[in-house]
Amino acid sequence: MKVASCPLCQSEEVSLVDRVDTDDLVQLYRARFGVAVADHFDGIDQLSFFNCSSCHLRFFSPMIAGSQSFYQQLNRHPWYYLEEKSEYRTVANLIPRGAKVLDIGCGEGKFARSLPACEYVGLEMNLTASASKGDDAPTILDESIADHSKRQPGHYDFVCSFQVLEHVVDLNGFITDSLKCLRTGGRLVVSVPAADSFIAQTINGLLNMPPHHLTWWPDHTLSHVAVRYGLVLERLIHEPLERLHYRRYAFNKAWGLIGRRFRLIDRTPIYRLGSLLLLPVAVIGWLMLIFNSSATIHGHSVVAVYRNGNQE
Ligand SMILES: [Zn+2]
Repeated sequence: MKVASCPLCQSEEVSLVDRVDTDDLVQLYRARFGVAVADHFDGIDQLSFFNCSSCHLRFFSPMIAGSQSFYQQLNRHPWYYLEEKSEYRTVANLIPRGAKVLDIGCGEGKFARSLPACEYVGLEMNLTASASKGDDAPTILDESIADHSKRQPGHYDFVCSFQVLEHVVDLNGFITDSLKCLRTGGRLVVSVPAADSFIAQTINGLLNMPPHHLTWWPDHTLSHVAVRYGLVLERLIHEPLERLHYRRYAFNKAWGLIGRRFRLIDRTPIYRLGSLLLLPVAVIGWLMLIFNSSATIHGHSVVAVYRNGNQE
């Protein structure tokens, strides 16, 4: 049997973590979000989920990315594009006035609102998300990072991508093209869902699976990116657990107490019954979060800041 290789470091030293039936994905996406995904998995019954022994990236195979229609369906949900991602403020604090900033996969360019006076350019190929226009609207180009890197090599002080990398199939192409846009001494800023957080213990966490997320990023993998691309990892910033995720965090903790093997998808009667029985424990955990500080608990996202080269 052909074994998958890691999409980041190309190592074939990968271990199987779990398998997912695509029928389960189709049914759960329909039931939970009203989104049709069956056309993504034509002729594919199962996806494998691997851990790379070398860089520790976790990835699904085959890597099936969401179509434009998939994202158009998700975009109908108001929660999908949050008004302001918490990491916007974290990253904006690192950027000085006047900096040239590229924001890849920028949606409606909301990050621009968090920035001091900067030369901001966003790239967004999902036109429905970037439809807003106006005199003070940020500059948003309908252009791929590959094309943009040919037009603007070495131009930017900061090249950022928020919650993008985990959707990308060609990781090396994406990172290489991002770096081409950076000047020497500029910063590559990558924000991804943190695999070293509660979301990696979320059973039936649909949005962390294909066709939405294709890869999971632990801190070790984010450190590996620096080594692989000759960068200096300056900061690794875990966003604190947000109130909106308290319930999920407490529920995952409750499941962790009984030591049952983690499955990406669990639709068994045992899981349903266990979820009911564990509810009081989860409620106690949730109340403890409400009345105690959650500042030291890893939240949904992690931000990695890399310097391009050894000089400022
Ligand atoms: Zn790897």
